[in-house]
Amino acid sequence: MARILIIEDEPAMQLGLKDNLEFENYQVDVASEGETGLQKIKTGQHDLILLDVMLPKMSGFDICKAARAAGVKTPIILLTARGEEIDKVLGLELGADDYVTKPFSVRELLARVKAMLRRNSGTADIPHSNLVSIGRLQLDFKAFLAIDGAQEVKLSHKEFELLSFLHENRNKVVSRYDILEKVWGYEEQITTRTVDNFIARLRQKVEVNVDQPKVILTVHGSGYKMVV
Ligand code: CA
Repeated sequence: MARILIIEDEPAMQLGLKDNLEFENYQVDVASEGETGLQKIKTGQHDLILLDVMLPKMSGFDICKAARAAGVKTPIILLTARGEEIDKVLGLELGADDYVTKPFSVRELLARVKAMLRRNSGTADIPHSNLVSIGRLQLDFKAFLAIDGAQEVKLSHKEFELLSFLHENRNKVVSRYDILEKVWGYEEQITTRTVDNFIARLRQKVEVNVDQPKVILTVHGSGYKMVV
């Protein structure tokens, strides 16, 4: 499970962040001022750092700069104050990876945290993840995440929708027209040929041997069938 370090001096903010992250099953460590925060960063034990900018003893910017100068590569999300546009630019120049502006919603912050951890690890280190196996891939449809082994595989939104639709109807034959209607909707000017092209692309990502599909089967004269 991912370990997150919060460096924040406002007690209510620190506690709120800690509670919410722990609720999402992250391991949380905290520091209330800059020097302790930097010492903790340098241990290299964290997967992500939430770093307030205005801190006693050492500012978030100085911490960022010092951490990067010391070779620490842990992703940092800065917590900046509203209206301080310069903070964002400066923070990113000093080596932060992202920022959120106070006041932020918990939901927004959690989304950033998940995205950052995913980007950094390339694996499914996501709490409450709901992985399904389809051929070579492990998928989390809600998180739009696809993994092959330890590598994240890039799928387009439509590719996710198509896989999701086939998976909902797994072990049943679905016609090209069903797919068109459910995945694209009638209003879009596309043809069954588009469906075939998407299926071909998905097979490249899903099948062990593309020439002999075992997961997304063609049912001649009828359509396609996902076998899982
Ligand atoms: Ca502060």
